[in-house]
Amino acid sequence: MKKKYDKLGGISLRLINTLAIIVASLFSVLLLISIYLLANGYHSLNDYTLEYMNWEKNAEGLELASDYLSDNVRSFVIQEDKKFLDNYFNEKNVSKRRDNAINTLEHRFKGTETFESLSKAMEKSVALMQVEYHAMKLVILSNGSDINLYPVEIIEYKLPDNEISLSDEEKKDLAIDLVFNDYYVNERSLITESVEKAVESLDKLLKDNINKAKEDLKNIMVFQQVIILLLILFLISFFVILNISIVLPLKNGLNSIINDNLLKVEGIKEYKYFAQKYNDIRIKENVYNNMLEYEAEHDKLTGLYNRAGYDLICKDLDLNNIAYILTDIDYFKLVNDKYGHTVGDLVLKRVADTLIEEFNGNVYVSRIGGDEFSIIIKEYNYQMNEDIRYKVKRINTKLNKPKGNVPSVTLSFGVSISEDEDTINTIFKKADDALYETKKNGRMNVSFYKN
Ligand code: GH3
Ligand code: MG
Repeated sequence: MKKKYDKLGGISLRLINTLAIIVASLFSVLLLISIYLLANGYHSLNDYTLEYMNWEKNAEGLELASDYLSDNVRSFVIQEDKKFLDNYFNEKNVSKRRDNAINTLEHRFKGTETFESLSKAMEKSVALMQVEYHAMKLVILSNGSDINLYPVEIIEYKLPDNEISLSDEEKKDLAIDLVFNDYYVNERSLITESVEKAVESLDKLLKDNINKAKEDLKNIMVFQQVIILLLILFLISFFVILNISIVLPLKNGLNSIINDNLLKVEGIKEYKYFAQKYNDIRIKENVYNNMLEYEAEHDKLTGLYNRAGYDLICKDLDLNNIAYILTDIDYFKLVNDKYGHTVGDLVLKRVADTLIEEFNGNVYVSRIGGDEFSIIIKEYNYQMNEDIRYKVKRINTKLNKPKGNVPSVTLSFGVSISEDEDTINTIFKKADDALYETKKNGRMNVSFYKN
C-alpha cells in the first residue's frame, strides 16, 4: 500500500504545507528586518537633524558671544559703567560660548572646512580681546577708578609707555578709537564672515547627510515594496496551487460521485491515491455486480439463460416475426433413474451445448424448466421452417449417440410462429401444444403449431 502511494507522482499536501510555512516565515523575517531598518533610518535622520541643529547653534553662539563682547566693551568705553565690563568678563570666563562652540565641534569636525573657519573666527576674537583690554584699561585709568577692583586680565594688561602719560581725555578718546576704528570693525566683520562660512559648510554637510539618509530610506522602502509585492505574488500563487491541486479535484470528485462516475486521478498526491483507491473499489464492485447479475440471469449448470433471464428477455421482446421453439428431453426421468442425477446433469449440459451449436446468431436459448428449453428466433420467416426441421434432425442425430460416459437422449420440439394478436403467453402455449403433439406422436421430432 505504502509503496503504491510512494510511486504516485505529484506534490503532496505535506510538501505544500511545509513550503508554505517556510516561505511565509522567510517573508515575515524579511518584512520585520525592513520595518526595523526603516524605523532605524527614520530615527537616524531625526538624530542627524537635531545634532546638526545643535552644532549650528554652537557655531552661531561663537559669533553671538563675540558680538556680545564687542557691544559690552563699546558700551563700557562710552558709558564707563562697570556693569558692561562685568558682562564682558562674565561671557569670557563663565558663559564661555565661544570656547563651548570650539570644544563641541572640535572632536567631530577637526580638519574640516567648518572647523578651520570656526577656529579662524575664534583666533580673531581672542586677538581682538587684547585691543578690548587695552581700551578698557585706558578708560579705567582715565576715570581714576581703583584698578585693583577689576579683573586680573585688565590689571595685568601693560599699556605702552607713551600712553601712560596721556591726559584722561586723550586716554578715553584713544579707547573709543580702539574699539570703533576701521581695523576693529574690519576684524569683527572677518569674524562674522568666518562664522558664516562655518555655518554654510555645516548646512551643506547637513544637506548631504540628510540626502544620504533619505536615499537610504528610499532604498529600504523599495526593498520593503519588493518584499510586499513578492508576498502578494506568493499568496496568489499559493491560492492558485491550492485551487488547482485541492479545491478543483475535490469539486470534480464530488460531481463524479454524484453522477456515479469514476474519479479523475488528479491534484495532490493524497487525493490521487484516494481517487485511485475509490476507482479500484468501484471497478471491483461493478465486476461483482455484473457477476451477480449474470448469475441471477443464467443457469449454473448449462450456462444458458435461466427462468429469470428468460423472463427479462420476454419482457422487452419484439413479438413480430419470431419463432418460438420449445424442446423437452424424451424420457429424461429414465436417464436419471438409470445413470443417476450427476450423469443426468451431464446430459442436460450436453443438450444445452448442442442447442447452442445449432441455434446461434439472432437467437435466445434458455433453460426454462428441469429438462425443458426454449429457443426464440428473431426476424423469422416461413422459409426458415425447413431449416428448423433440418436442425432438429441434426441435433437428435448428434444426441442419439452416447458421448464418453454421457448416454444418448433425444429431444421433442414444438414450434409456434408469431402472429399479430399473439402475446408471449399465447406463443408459448402454442409451442407447448405443438410439443405435446410431438410427444404424442412418438417423440424425437418436431411439430409446428397449426390452428
Ligand atoms: P417425457 O418424455 O414425457 O418428457 O418424459 P420425462 O421422463 O422426461 O418426463 P419429464 O419431462 O416430466 O421429466 C423431467 C425430469 O427431469 C424430472 C426430473 O427428475 C428431471 N430433472 C429436472 N431437473 C433436473 C436437474 O437439474 N438434473 C437432473 N439430473 N434431472 C432433473
Ligand atoms: Mg422430458
